[in-house]
Amino acid sequence: MTETTALALFSGGLDSIVSCRVMMEQGVRVKAVKFVSPFFGYELLAREQEHIEEVRNQYGIDLCLRDVSAQYIKMLRQPPHGYGKNFNPCIDCKILLFTEAKKMMAEFNASLLISGEVIGQRPMSQRKDTLRLIERDSGCRGILLRPLCAKSQPPTQAEEDGLVDRDRLHDLYGRGRQGQIALAAKFGIDDFPAPAGGCVLTDPIKSKQISRYYDEEADIQIPDLLMMMTGRQFTLPNGGWLAMGREADENPKVASLAEADDLLLQMEERPGPTAILRRGSHPEDLKYAAGLVVRYARKSSSGPTVGTVNIFTDQQTLIDNEPMKQILTEPLADEIFKPWQR
Ligand code: SF4
Repeated sequence: MTETTALALFSGGLDSIVSCRVMMEQGVRVKAVKFVSPFFGYELLAREQEHIEEVRNQYGIDLCLRDVSAQYIKMLRQPPHGYGKNFNPCIDCKILLFTEAKKMMAEFNASLLISGEVIGQRPMSQRKDTLRLIERDSGCRGILLRPLCAKSQPPTQAEEDGLVDRDRLHDLYGRGRQGQIALAAKFGIDDFPAPAGGCVLTDPIKSKQISRYYDEEADIQIPDLLMMMTGRQFTLPNGGWLAMGREADENPKVASLAEADDLLLQMEERPGPTAILRRGSHPEDLKYAAGLVVRYARKSSSGPTVGTVNIFTDQQTLIDNEPMKQILTEPLADEIFKPWQR
């Protein structure tokens, strides 16, 4: 008998892990796909193979990543079903991801799609009527099986065709995680991730920034979007755009976002933020940027307030500490730069 393959939408959370394992337990081959966009999971693209290995080793799940940034950025401008409490288009997000997953079924010879959703778990996107709507608008009616709550749903084609044993599926409901935790324990999984707060689009502060950015920019590019979502933001008087790490942890991320033509700035003699200057070819903007880096660098009670800022052309010269230029400057006064903050 030929093996049945299910393509799983994999978020990396407990529900998606357990739903894959429920299917695998009954002999269904599962290929999991994690969709990424600048709003969720994008950083994984930089260590794709490592992440795939981690998921295989921790959960025994065969994963691949797919980048849906282009489609997602476009959809976010005008999601047909609107936004949630913040700038989160949860219904259209799911429709988009299921639509993309459906397109991938032939590639993996999959007979069905699975996802870890549980009815009643999330206010908007996991109500019974919303789940129906998402299935309809993504063209997935009858092929999308939700193993954790399948028993309270109409049977899918795969169940009717005998490819999946409905008796070995579940009827979990609501926000509690006890059922999922019990299943995880049964599969020997005890290091599952804590419930996440959702993607960046559900963050009240960041989602406002992103929404504002959508209002301002007609043509959104991924490198700009990534920079806009990282660190403190300033628009300098001559059109330069500066982003700087808020904390030491954020500095490597800032550095990793530098594109050709950007400059990187970092303090020479004391700890401080790493900053990217984009579209900052005006010499005055470079001086302002250096003044801002000194302003946000660690202060010493006795030492000088002035500081030397190293200017690098790219991430490698920053790592090698080979600045192309140095600027000795005072910290920029707050009343000067406050109007430049975004
Ligand atoms: S929280 Fe974010 S990733 Fe999750 S469904 Fe909503 S928009 Fe999509």
